[in-house]
Amino acid sequence: HLDRIRAVDGQYNAFLHIADDEALSAAQAVDEALARGDEMLSPLAGVPLALKDVFTTSDMPTTCASKILEGWVPPYDATLTTRLRQAGIPILGKTNMDEFAMGSSTENSAYGPTLNPWGENRIPGGSGGGSAAALAAFEAPLAIGTDTGGSIRQPAAMTSTVGVKPTYGTVSRFGLVACASSLDQGGPCARTVLDTALLHEVIAGHDPRDSTSIDTPVRPVVQAAKEGAEGSLSGVRVGVVKELHSDSYQPGVISTFDKAVEALRGLGAEVVEVSCPHFTYALAAYYLILPSEVSSNLARFDAMRYGLRVGNDGTRSAEQVMAETRSAGFGKEVKRRIMIGTYALSAGYYDAYYGQALKVRTLIARDFDAAYEQVDVLVAPTSPFTAWQLGEKVDDPIAMYLSDLCTLPTNLAGHCAMSVPAGLSPDDGLPVGLQIMAPALADERLYRIGAAYE
Ligand code: GLN
Repeated sequence: HLDRIRAVDGQYNAFLHIADDEALSAAQAVDEALARGDEMLSPLAGVPLALKDVFTTSDMPTTCASKILEGWVPPYDATLTTRLRQAGIPILGKTNMDEFAMGSSTENSAYGPTLNPWGENRIPGGSGGGSAAALAAFEAPLAIGTDTGGSIRQPAAMTSTVGVKPTYGTVSRFGLVACASSLDQGGPCARTVLDTALLHEVIAGHDPRDSTSIDTPVRPVVQAAKEGAEGSLSGVRVGVVKELHSDSYQPGVISTFDKAVEALRGLGAEVVEVSCPHFTYALAAYYLILPSEVSSNLARFDAMRYGLRVGNDGTRSAEQVMAETRSAGFGKEVKRRIMIGTYALSAGYYDAYYGQALKVRTLIARDFDAAYEQVDVLVAPTSPFTAWQLGEKVDDPIAMYLSDLCTLPTNLAGHCAMSVPAGLSPDDGLPVGLQIMAPALADERLYRIGAAYE
């Protein structure tokens, strides 16, 4: 895989940092353990992985694709990083992303965009475009992403790979540089549902160092994927979300999705249409809640504690150095969201914006609860669009945000969801994703149905 990265990554820019030596010595340690006859902790021991550059790594830089963290090597490993190492999974390097996970195309990286191996000059989705492209280009067989509003699932759809956003609280956020803490969740990515399940079981589990970690056994997702692979979905009730099936989506996305639903029916699933009326407001609510949390979380980049420091020539105040550093270190989208969030949280506007958004969040969760009284899982396209041209939406943030329309409700409710390849759009020959959603702590349903469909 290191050879493959060296050969093709100049073309795709999926990696921000390649860890040749560290990966090779981790692989060698697994070889030696096998030679000694040690029992391996995971069936994935020795299988290498591409890690999104938002998890801390004590032996590699962690930049979140931002200038403000350029060259910063964290003093500790994220819990997720530790779990990978304990499982004997060599980390090939750190992957490109939208700065601090804000974006839908990986064009907001301070280190240049990642390109999608599926098309000439196409974006790979975002924010985890680097991890998804690394899988699609066969630079890595496993990858890790984070999903705050769709950043695992949307890039998976656009690169014909598999990505899962686990139930909120089941994968530790300790050492995951925060974007929006109430939404962020790390998750597994691979090219098959079973590989994704194996990785899921490595990274999930209670962590006392994350205050929102749930103390509950890891869901049996590997077993579910194996059962699903046998192919029958009889007795499974699937709901097609009416509000996530619209004339405004690309026709090729809709027709590919409709075919996928027919395939589920063909496997024996009972398919019904379900209405979730408040999903229509998910985008508006998300784009108030996320910037609000971002404006607070990113206050820690104060020019004193981490990375970049600009204008510290002894003549300026700490406030001036902070202002100059943040002006130079943050990109346009990050600044836009800090501004929106600061405004939405300010006295006098708090109730009108942030407070309202929280109420909508509750209504969306109630829509899900009502739907899950009728069905086991919900399905929708992962994104209304296939991978667009590089540069096409960079000057139009709203158009960019619309690509998250189908993934946001799951994050707002704290539930789990998967994107699995559904085939190529007849419009442009680019990949389309089938999104499967399930209630909190029912992650195994995603794997059963995803594996049967795949
Ligand atoms: N694209 C969404 C955003 O820009 C989702 C990001 C994410 O999941 N990290 O906020």
